[in-house]
Amino acid sequence: MALPTPPAVGTAMLPPDTYAGQVVVVTGGGTGLGKAMAIEFARAGAAVAIVSRKPDHREAGIAAIESVGGRAIGVEVDVRDSEAVSAMFDQVEQGLGPADVLVNNAAGNFPVQATKMSPNAWRSVVDIVLNGTFLCSTEFARRAIARDAPGAILNIGATYSWTGGPGTAHSAAAKAGVTNLTQSLAVEWAPKGIRVNCLAPGRFPHGDLPEVLLKRQDPEADAKRIPAGRVGELHELGYAATFMCSPYAAYLSGHTLVLDGANWLRRGLTMPEFTPIDEQFP
Ligand code: NAP
Repeated sequence: MALPTPPAVGTAMLPPDTYAGQVVVVTGGGTGLGKAMAIEFARAGAAVAIVSRKPDHREAGIAAIESVGGRAIGVEVDVRDSEAVSAMFDQVEQGLGPADVLVNNAAGNFPVQATKMSPNAWRSVVDIVLNGTFLCSTEFARRAIARDAPGAILNIGATYSWTGGPGTAHSAAAKAGVTNLTQSLAVEWAPKGIRVNCLAPGRFPHGDLPEVLLKRQDPEADAKRIPAGRVGELHELGYAATFMCSPYAAYLSGHTLVLDGANWLRRGLTMPEFTPIDEQFP
C-alpha cells in the first residue's frame, strides 16, 4: 500500500481564474520541475515568463504552456548577472506586464566529492542557486514596492538544506542559504505586501536532468525506498506551488514546505547501510 496518487494531470485544484491577469516569472521554467510548475500556473490563468539561458529550453517551456491553452513568453537571463536580471524584468514588463509572482527555480547541480570539486564548480552552483535567488528576489521586490503592488516569491529548496548530503556539498550549502534567505526576506517584505516561501521537493523524476543524474533515476527502486511507496508526480509539485503563491495562502510567509512523501525523515531507529562517498560518487 502506497500513499494515494494525486488527482489526474489536468484536474484543476484552484478556481480556474485564480491567476487571471497575473504574470508569473519562472527561472529555469523550460525544463523539469520548473516547467511542471509553470504549466500549473498557466492552467490557473497566469501569463508565464520562462526565463533561462538556453533558447531550446525556453522554447520547450513555451510549447508546454501553449499545449494546455496558456500564454507564455521566453526571456534570456543568467540569474548570476544582476544587470541581466534587471533587463529580464524589463522585457517581462514589456511582453506581459509587471511580475506578480516569482519562482526561483533555476539551479545547477552535479554530484562530486568535495575533495574533487573545483573552486569554479563550487562558485558556479552557489552563484546560480543562492546569489541568483537573491538577485531575482530583490529586483522583483524593488519593482513591486515601487508600484505599491503585492507579490509572492517561491524559492525552490531541497531537503539536504537540513541534512547536507555527500556529493552535493555545493548545492546543499546553497539551498541551506536559500531556506534561510526565505525567512529573512519574508519578514522584511511582509509590511510591503510581499510573501516569500520555499518549496523543498523530494524525488520527482523527469527526463530533463543532466546525464549523470538521469542514469541514477529509477522510480521503481525509489518507490521501495520512500515511505510514501512512490516518487512524486510533477503536477502535484505544481499544485503546491500554485497554492503557495495564491490568495488562498495569503497568510503564509517565511515557510518551507517539504513535498517528499516523508522521505527525508525516514531514518528513525533503523540505520540504513552506510555507503562511503568513494563508492557513491567515485
Ligand atoms: P533542471 O531540469 O536541471 O533545471 C534547471 C533549470 O535551471 C534549467 O531550466 C536551466 O535552464 C536553469 N538554469 C540553470 N542555470 C541557470 C542560470 N545561470 N540562469 C538562468 N537559468 C539557469 O533541474 P530540475 O530537476 O527541474 O530542478 C529544478 C529545481 O528543483 C532546482 O532548484 C532543484 O535544485 C530543485 N530540486 C529538484 C529535485 C528533483 O527531484 N529533480 C529535487 C529537489 C530539488 P538553462 O540551461 O536554459 O539556463
